[in-house]
Amino acid sequence: MSVYLDYNASAPIDHRVLETMVESYKNTIGNADSRTHDFGDNARKVVENARKQVASLLNVSSDEVFFTSGATESNNIAIQGLRDFAAENNKKHIITTAIEHKAVLGTVKALEKEGFEIDIVSPDITGRVKVEDILNKVRTDTLLVSVMHVNNETGIIQPVKEIGNELAKLDVLFHIDATQSCGKLVKEIKELQYDMLSFSAHKLMGPQGIGCLILKKKGYRLPPVKPIMYGGQQEHGIRPGTIPVALVVGCGKACELANNEYDVNNNHALVIKDLVYKELEKAQIPYSLNGAKEYCVNSTVNICFPGVSSEALMIMSRQFCGVSNGSACTSQNYAPSYVLVAMGIPNEQIESSIRISWGANSDPDDVVTGVRSLIQTAKQLLG
Ligand code: PMP
Repeated sequence: MSVYLDYNASAPIDHRVLETMVESYKNTIGNADSRTHDFGDNARKVVENARKQVASLLNVSSDEVFFTSGATESNNIAIQGLRDFAAENNKKHIITTAIEHKAVLGTVKALEKEGFEIDIVSPDITGRVKVEDILNKVRTDTLLVSVMHVNNETGIIQPVKEIGNELAKLDVLFHIDATQSCGKLVKEIKELQYDMLSFSAHKLMGPQGIGCLILKKKGYRLPPVKPIMYGGQQEHGIRPGTIPVALVVGCGKACELANNEYDVNNNHALVIKDLVYKELEKAQIPYSLNGAKEYCVNSTVNICFPGVSSEALMIMSRQFCGVSNGSACTSQNYAPSYVLVAMGIPNEQIESSIRISWGANSDPDDVVTGVRSLIQTAKQLLG
């Protein structure tokens, strides 16, 4: 059996989440927005319970939680949804980073074609952007700063706390793509200052196809986002369309579990990370890490095996383990990872780099077995 080591692409669903979802599919019939019968009321109750579970994980209030189909949609609403506000206030400057997910980069590039000005800040070799590099770009017409919390390819934590604290003093909106940190850096997220935050449930062992956009109120006011799709008034019109009750229930349960168990999960991830490093040292294979170790989350490593083609390594080790060399969302093209390029890593090093990621329900022995086979295969490729 091949070992799954690609949790950053999508984590397997927690069995307790699945059980609540099955229960919901069986017993909560109806549309949460139906007002004319008890079925609708019951569906509404479980949706609002899930909203509370999300709110509690993120330390926000329930009326700041908006369900979407996932982080891609949340990022799109957070950015595209500001069009009208930008035009009305003549604020059409956006700052983001070169290592954002395409759901952010693609969206700001689309706005650039409509006349927005975009500044894209690169990280240094540590994989982190510098706070001052972001802040130095802020102008009087800056509408939005969008920075991810943890990079999906490197696991490097970005200084969103420091950026948020500074931006809170200015009249600039701040959006955080927290897809890779939600449910993991639980304490840290609770303390962040931001206006909008996105995540997908499947990265924290919830179901695929559901996520949230958090819109933090200032006083009684939500950030000035408008819906980007026309339809019903669901989610206060921010995200029209019938609420997928069982998915929402699964998202809520995943958030509840993460909130209760993140300390244990974090330690578990760290134990696995140490085991991975030990295997690398024992094997005496030349390797280097992409991104600075001290900024990396416990559940990801991005490793370069010099002289080993990552494509060949992935094909040859497929029977032993599932790893990747970049975001699944861009894996159709063979171009070198734009994240590693932005860090200033040379192309030949990028072509020899792979990402290994694991999670709360990874079995340490399985991970060791998978990593051992991977290293053996890399050695074979070195000849
Ligand atoms: N942002 C980040 C940082 C991600 O890692 C991902 C998923 N790879 C997304 C956004 C998009 O999430 P989804 O595909 O669930 O919409």
